[in-house]
Amino acid sequence: MRTPDVSSDVARVVSVNGRLQPAADARVSIFDRGLLYGDGIFETFRIYDGRPFRFNDHWRRLQRSTRSIGLRLPHTAAWFHRQIDTLLDANLLTDALVRLTITRGAGPAGLEPPTTVAPTIILFARPFAGYPKILYQRGLTVIIASIRRPPPSATPPYAKSLSYLGGILAKREAVQRGANDALLLSVEGHVCEGTTSNLFFVRAGTLYTPSVQTGLLQGITRQVVLELARRLKIPVRQGLFLPKTLLAANELFLTNTSYEVMPVVKVDGRRIGTGKPGPVTRRLHQAFQRAR
Ligand code: PLP
Repeated sequence: MRTPDVSSDVARVVSVNGRLQPAADARVSIFDRGLLYGDGIFETFRIYDGRPFRFNDHWRRLQRSTRSIGLRLPHTAAWFHRQIDTLLDANLLTDALVRLTITRGAGPAGLEPPTTVAPTIILFARPFAGYPKILYQRGLTVIIASIRRPPPSATPPYAKSLSYLGGILAKREAVQRGANDALLLSVEGHVCEGTTSNLFFVRAGTLYTPSVQTGLLQGITRQVVLELARRLKIPVRQGLFLPKTLLAANELFLTNTSYEVMPVVKVDGRRIGTGKPGPVTRRLHQAFQRAR
């Protein structure tokens, strides 16, 4: 039986363990540890004009991620770059999102990580030329999720692991409450990040973002925005912030590989600033688009 076409937005050709094949024919073992235990990591690359944005930063995060769970990467950066290029060529894509998944592979039963098993490496692409402009003009609405982000002592903070259940439940809650997305707090109650994004807010001309201490994933886009803010001489503070600080902010935005810099205009139904995307958010997004 062929895999049902549940992801019609995925480009036709995918790559499994270095082999290109039609998405509908791609297979992994039902004993794959990625499936059984979420034992693996992933990266999402943004492709602009045929080139992966900040490939080296993604590669470094991938190395840190895999190292933090003791998974040995079986190939070099050049190999992964070639895989992405080949996948894009096969699908005739120049603007896309490429998802790379690496699991610990199919192994014997039990949690003990096998050492002799080859990882499973999956790449697929989605055509993507950015979200509609209207979203950036209007901004998103978010809630503060009731579920919290696990602390760095509970899950390795560097691991961009396959286990996204927390984020999924937070997103589900957002949808049920009629919002676009959710923010998660740390177990101590500090603002941490979005379900798949980092967050920034602006108050009196200063840019604030939660510190890595909160257990957030260190986004590549977060890093780029911090670099741009320095270049634009916007003062930046990283720290521990309570949710009430957000409500007193003039502007709020989320960053990730697909959002770039996405304004947020409401938190838990309460307006942020004027209730419209603000000038610092716009300036940083424009700078981001020039830099990519
Ligand atoms: N935080 C989480 C939990 C994420 O899943 C992501 C991206 O998927 C980010 C932050 C943002 O990371 P990046 O800017 O590298 O896309």
